[in-house]
Amino acid sequence: AVNAETMQKEKHFIRRTKHPKKVIIIGGGIGGMETARVLKLRGHEPVIYEQSDVLGGTLIPASAESYKGKLRDLLEWYRRQMHELQIEVHLNERIGSIDEFKGQEIVVATGAVPRLLRNVPGYEKMIEACDYLNGRETGDRVAVIGGGLTGCEIAYELALQSHHPIIIEMKGDLIAQKGVCLANSSYLREWFELHDIPVYLETVLKEVKDGKIICVKNGEEFEISCDSVISCAGYLPSPLAEPSLHVHTVGDCRTVGNLRTVIWDAYETAMKIR
Ligand SMILES: Cc1cc2nc3c(=O)[nH]c(=O)nc-3n(C[C@H](O)[C@H](O)[C@H](O)COP(=O)(O)OP(=O)(O)OC[C@H]3O[C@@H](n4cnc5c(N)ncnc54)[C@H](O)[C@@H]3O)c2cc1C
Repeated sequence: AVNAETMQKEKHFIRRTKHPKKVIIIGGGIGGMETARVLKLRGHEPVIYEQSDVLGGTLIPASAESYKGKLRDLLEWYRRQMHELQIEVHLNERIGSIDEFKGQEIVVATGAVPRLLRNVPGYEKMIEACDYLNGRETGDRVAVIGGGLTGCEIAYELALQSHHPIIIEMKGDLIAQKGVCLANSSYLREWFELHDIPVYLETVLKEVKDGKIICVKNGEEFEISCDSVISCAGYLPSPLAEPSLHVHTVGDCRTVGNLRTVIWDAYETAMKIR
């Protein structure tokens, strides 16, 4: 899934460019790194600008759970590729506007931002999923708001680390989104049942208070006591600029997806640049 050439040899193969040029890549997540890798192999000169002090972007929290060792290997492989291919990388450089690169080929790979539940009183008390995965501590009883794949994986990790997660999901089922491997979603659902992890379906978060949350189900309000609340309410694309003739958007900043969709998108975009 993470090698765009696998089983796609007719469609995905490296073609050298006849017009080598500098290509500006904004964002050093997996999308930016895959774009840079393919551009370099084609003979272009990619330059990555990343606002943080490391390459990896969302793949850093996305690979943090104890059972995601393969994703951590993938992240290391990409960082090594940047080094071995001698790709120019500027860390700690936040690009405010693409105007400074006017006239050049630009790839925007700035990722997505979390959807914050600002309409819920007390939402600021919640820990965002990626903050938790990046190491923010929680208490013992943790309400996980959102039973999509991210929320369920976090609840699973919390339970593996001997915490007590409680899942709150407004839909009628966990991991209701399309495109998730059935083996993974079925495993998580059954694991929660087997280990008596409380799951509240068709339940909406109404308020976050100190030491508890207020929820509503079938019009009835009730409280759940908890020490921490993790928000797993999804992500929204956050492109620095809109696409145009010489500006390309790649990965989550175009459509929020997963490693396969981001890597394929990046590969195909890098192949399109003449
Ligand atoms: C919690 C979580 C778990 C996940 N787990 C999985 C999983 O198990 N399997 C899977 O396939 N997918 C998973 N995903 C999805 C996958 O991680 C993402 O789709 C992918 O990492 C996004 O890559 P990207 O390069 O498009 O964006 P990002 O990785 O977000 O990269 C964007 C980069 O741009 C930088 N940036 C932003 N603005 C600027 C600017 N103005 N100037 C300079 N730099 C800037 C950011 O700092 C960041 O490094 C998960 C996602 C999340 C949130």
